[in-house]
Amino acid sequence: MHLENQIMAKLKKQKGRSGNDKIYDILCGKCGQQTFTYLKLGKGGILRCYLSRILEPETIAKLQFDESIRKASDLPNLQCPDCEEVLGVPIKRRDGRYAFRMRQGYFHKKMRK
Ligand SMILES: [Zn+2]
Repeated sequence: MHLENQIMAKLKKQKGRSGNDKIYDILCGKCGQQTFTYLKLGKGGILRCYLSRILEPETIAKLQFDESIRKASDLPNLQCPDCEEVLGVPIKRRDGRYAFRMRQGYFHKKMRK
C-alpha cells in the first residue's frame, strides 16, 4: 500500500480528532534528516510525542505493540537515523502511555498538507 494511504487509513481509526489535528514530519535539527512522522492533536508546540501517534517509521511505530516493553527505559531514545542526534527521550506517563519527551531546539517540524 502507498505510504500516504497507510497514514490516512491509520488516521481514520484514531478517535477524538478535531480540526486542529495535523501531521508533522519531524526533522533532525542538526542534519535535517527526516526522522519520524507524527500526528499532533490540538494546538500548541510539540513537547511530547506519544508512541501511539507516531505514524512512521514502522520500526518506531511498532514499539507500541511490543509487550516486552514495561518501562520507559525499555524504549530507545528517539534518534536521527543519520547523525544519531537524540531528539527525544522515552517517558511513561501516569496513565501508562509511553511518549518521548522532545528536546526543544534539537528538531524541526514540517506540516504535511
Ligand atoms: Zn541528524
